This record gives sequence, structure tokens and C-alpha cells, in this order.
Amino acid sequence: MAKEEYAIGLDLGGTKILAGLVDRTGRLIARKQLPTYAEEGEKAVIERVLSATHDVLSASGIHSEEVRGVGIASAGVINSDSGEVIFASNLGWRNVPIGTLIEQRFGLPVRLFNDANAAAIAEWLWGAGAGTQNMIYVTVSTGVGAGVISDGRLISGRDGSAGEFGHISIDWNGPPCGCGNRGCLENYASGTAIENAARHKLATTNEPVTAKAISEAALAGDPFSKRLIKQAGFYLGVGAANLIYLFNPEVIVFGGGVMNASTILMPEIEKSMRERCIPGLAQEVRVILSQIGVEAGVMGAAGGVFALDQPGEKASNF
Ligand SMILES: [Zn+2]
Repeated sequence: MAKEEYAIGLDLGGTKILAGLVDRTGRLIARKQLPTYAEEGEKAVIERVLSATHDVLSASGIHSEEVRGVGIASAGVINSDSGEVIFASNLGWRNVPIGTLIEQRFGLPVRLFNDANAAAIAEWLWGAGAGTQNMIYVTVSTGVGAGVISDGRLISGRDGSAGEFGHISIDWNGPPCGCGNRGCLENYASGTAIENAARHKLATTNEPVTAKAISEAALAGDPFSKRLIKQAGFYLGVGAANLIYLFNPEVIVFGGGVMNASTILMPEIEKSMRERCIPGLAQEVRVILSQIGVEAGVMGAAGGVFALDQPGEKASNF
């Protein structure tokens, strides 16, 4: 292969740090996973990110000169220009210049992405959205997020934070959200929201209720759990209708842990979404499940790196 046909993707999560070396065709050549242990503090986590990067490079047997750069997918608030993670509660980070630190250590250019945007890139390049020019990826897990590909470009916004779909308000007078808004979508349709609704209805605060357990019970036919999941699907459809009006997408891809209950969720999402859209707009929109699993962050962050100043290519637009 020619020079610089590889990129490193890093996914910085609250429980694990995942590093992957990916080639231009989307093949994951090597991967390295380390626990995050955010409670050990900022320095320790940074050190583990650097060592995962080093390890994946040496495990792959690829020389760093053949690596185009490092893409980082991070939750929380980021600044893609400065390469800083401004605030990420799951990592315990505030104003960490992780981009600069990696650049200094490895001599490779770094690109920082919001985690949902990175996953959107992966699905668009190599997954459920491949071949489209207008795709929206929605992740439904602890929270709700999205990444928007419009006219073949990732909409990243001023500092890389575009696509905060979970914080669009679907009830102006709804309960207050941590973000400052009221009635945010993720207060109705995320894993956390499903857990809260279950606790509320069961009038219990002590019993551990997890979204995963509720999903499993719903899939096994439990009517109470099924109602909770259906309700989340209804709200996701309400949100998705807004996306259709704004972006006129070809496809909306749903991923994230909560989508394990996709057989119950998908029909509900489609139903409320289509009911709320001008028929001509919604008819042609395909609503499908994500294809790239837990490695979407790593793959997308690496995929985004191939975009670095290579005009004329598909990936050059973001
Ligand atoms: Zn909010």
C-alpha cells in the first residue's frame, strides 16, 4: 500500500479507552483496549490514552510514517480546532489538550470529534449509510446524540459540537434538563429516561433498574417493559420528524445500546415520525439500524483523519 494509508482511531469512553489502527478501506488492522479508571484522575487517564496509542501502533507492525494521523472520538464538550476536551464528566476531564499531547508524543496530526459525529462518519463511510450523501446517525444509549452528514459533508459546527440531538426540546414546559433547556428529547427517550420512567411507575428508588434489563424483559414479552420501550420509540420518532424537516435525509441510522430492543423500537419510531411529516418528505426516508458495533467510535475517528487536506476525495469534505 502507498504511504499514509492508515489512521489511528481512539475512542475515549467512561469505562474503556479503545485504540484501533484502520486502513483506508475500513479494515481494523489492530486494536488495543484499556480500562479508563477515571477515578484515578486526569494524568493517569491521559497516560493510558498515550500508551494505548503506542501499543496499537506496535501491535499492528505498521511504521508510524505510514500513518496519516490520529482521530479521537470523545464524549462531552470538545473544541475540534484546538484539540481540547473542554469538559467530559465520564473521563473526569476539564480542558485537557489531548490533541496536542498526542501530536507531541507521536509526531502525527490529530483530529478531535464528538463521539456521535465519529460514529456517524463510520456508518457513512463503511456502514449502514454507505453510498448516501444525506445521512443522520442517531445514538440512543445513556443519552441521545446524533451526527449529520449533509450533501456529503459532516456538519461539525463552530467547534465540533453540532448534532446535539438529545437536547432539542420536545416539550417547552417539560422537566428541566442538566443542559439548561426544558423537555429535552433525551429526558424521554434515552436509557436513563427509560430507567427513570420505570422507577417512577414502580414507585421504587432503591431497586436497581437498568435500561438493559427493561429491554430484555420487553423482548421477552413483559407488557410493562414493552410499554416503556414503545414510549421511548414514540418520542424518538417525534425527534426524528424534526430531523427530516431540517435536513431532508435519505436515511436515518439508529444505533447505541438501547437499540438492542430494535424490534420493538423501530416500528414505533417510524410510526410517530411518519405521522408528523409532510408525506412527500418522509416517504422516501429509510430508517435502519447501525451496522458498525462497538468499534464505531474508533472507526469513525480514523475515517475522519483520511479527510485531512486531501482535496478531491469523498472524505475530504469534513
Ligand atoms: Zn437538555
